[in-house]
Amino acid sequence: MKRNRKVKIVATLGPASSTYEMIRQLHEAGADVFRLNMSHGTHEEIAERHRAIRQVEKDLDSPIAILADLQGPKLRVGEFANKSEELEWGEPFRLDLDKTPGDHTRVCLPHPEIFQALEPGSSLLVNDGKIRLRVEDCGPDHANCVVVTGGTISNRKGVNVPDVVLPVAALSEKDRKDLEFVSALGVDWLALSFVQRPEDVTEARELCGGRAAILSKIEKPAAVRAFDEILAVSDGIMVARGDLGVELPVQNVPPIQKRLVRKCRAAAKPVIVATQMLESMIESPMPTRAEVSDVSGAIYEGADAIMLSAESAAGQYPVEAVTTMNNVAQEVEGDPTYTEIIEASRTASAKRSSVADGIVAAAREIAETTDIKAICCFTSTGTTAQLVARERPRVPIIAMTSHRGAARRLSLLWGTYCVMTGELERFKQAVVNAARAARSAGFATEEDQIVVTAGVPFNISGTTNILRVAPCDERLIYRTDPE
Ligand code: ATP
Ligand code: MG
Ligand code: MG
Repeated sequence: MKRNRKVKIVATLGPASSTYEMIRQLHEAGADVFRLNMSHGTHEEIAERHRAIRQVEKDLDSPIAILADLQGPKLRVGEFANKSEELEWGEPFRLDLDKTPGDHTRVCLPHPEIFQALEPGSSLLVNDGKIRLRVEDCGPDHANCVVVTGGTISNRKGVNVPDVVLPVAALSEKDRKDLEFVSALGVDWLALSFVQRPEDVTEARELCGGRAAILSKIEKPAAVRAFDEILAVSDGIMVARGDLGVELPVQNVPPIQKRLVRKCRAAAKPVIVATQMLESMIESPMPTRAEVSDVSGAIYEGADAIMLSAESAAGQYPVEAVTTMNNVAQEVEGDPTYTEIIEASRTASAKRSSVADGIVAAAREIAETTDIKAICCFTSTGTTAQLVARERPRVPIIAMTSHRGAARRLSLLWGTYCVMTGELERFKQAVVNAARAARSAGFATEEDQIVVTAGVPFNISGTTNILRVAPCDERLIYRTDPE
């Protein structure tokens, strides 16, 4: 769908957002990508949401990316009889292996390996670190804790044990089943949680077998250290600040975010900034100033996408949260300082080595020097669109592709508007199609000009080798262009 902004919005679906009507409203309000979190909900529920998204896509004729997020080796508490409980400072709280629903004195933590590793004095952090428990005494099947920081604990909240090394595999049995399930269902991006080594990514990539692009979530100190190697084998990155801010001191997160976003931009791979972006909007229709500032920060850094988690999955104001992000993005991107910052940080990415790199840089340069309304790039795998997006041009990028999968996947990409074209044989036809796409999206009128990049002969991927400044008036194209 056409947006008046460059940054993309990812919205997590959950109980607050699983109907066709709600998903459609979220897309119309600005959600470009929908995230299905495999940590919550049954396969039937996931399939239901997947169906609803594809229906919205069809009804609005607008490519949408679906991102399936594998749980990974995340520890979670079980369920509570009353769904949630208040934990008060100084009160005792017990974790055990008993599957009976929990109450305000205890809950199940169904991970025997964690009890083996705990010691009196260990800290347990619940719900992205909002609740802190200290172990007083423990055995092979339980830990008696005291509440150090209180708060609301509810069904299946995540648990981190930052000072303890746990022996866990990158992909659990559940992850393997979920991976097969979503790959067969047909998702565009597969997100891997708690990646620690590049091998974790290559293993998932083999299992996925090209059915989805692979996005690595950076939420472990080890992943931050091995980031360059992980980025090299991933198609995209998520700065997963929830667990990252628990595994590392919270003040380490902003500099890591900045560094990771820069590296992803330089590598022409999409990067999502995630977690607690508008956290207060779970319960309030208005964000805090600090949250608005955080969202703006990610946009000024040039991130490809910003993400909503519980705000859209389980909050009371999912549409308002998307609208807030959309409004903040439009305001930031209209600020001349934004353009200055984006352009000043672009040089880091100008490591040009191929013909395509040169052509996209020229396209951006032409668009900046003259009055060009859009850069239209013909792309089959999406790589050329990623190179254009790396240039962070001022004008919209129109990615023209005959592959539905590429159009969907590219919805995550900064500044990119995706259009499906039929198989093309002639460059002249490509130019006509590009001009039509630019006009019908409202980016240009018949009086305007666009830049078109493509690879001739057509249908051979990896061959961007032509650049044309074209009028948007088809009669002119037919009159002037060679075949
Ligand atoms: P992750 O580490 O993958 O981000 P998470 O538990 O933080 O896992 P999010 O998708 O970030 O999950 O959503 C935040 C919260 O929203 C969850 O803790 C949960 O309470 C709620 N939530 C999200 N999706 C669902 C869902 N499908 N069903 C029930 N609750 C959900
Ligand atoms: Mg996480
Ligand atoms: Mg989360």
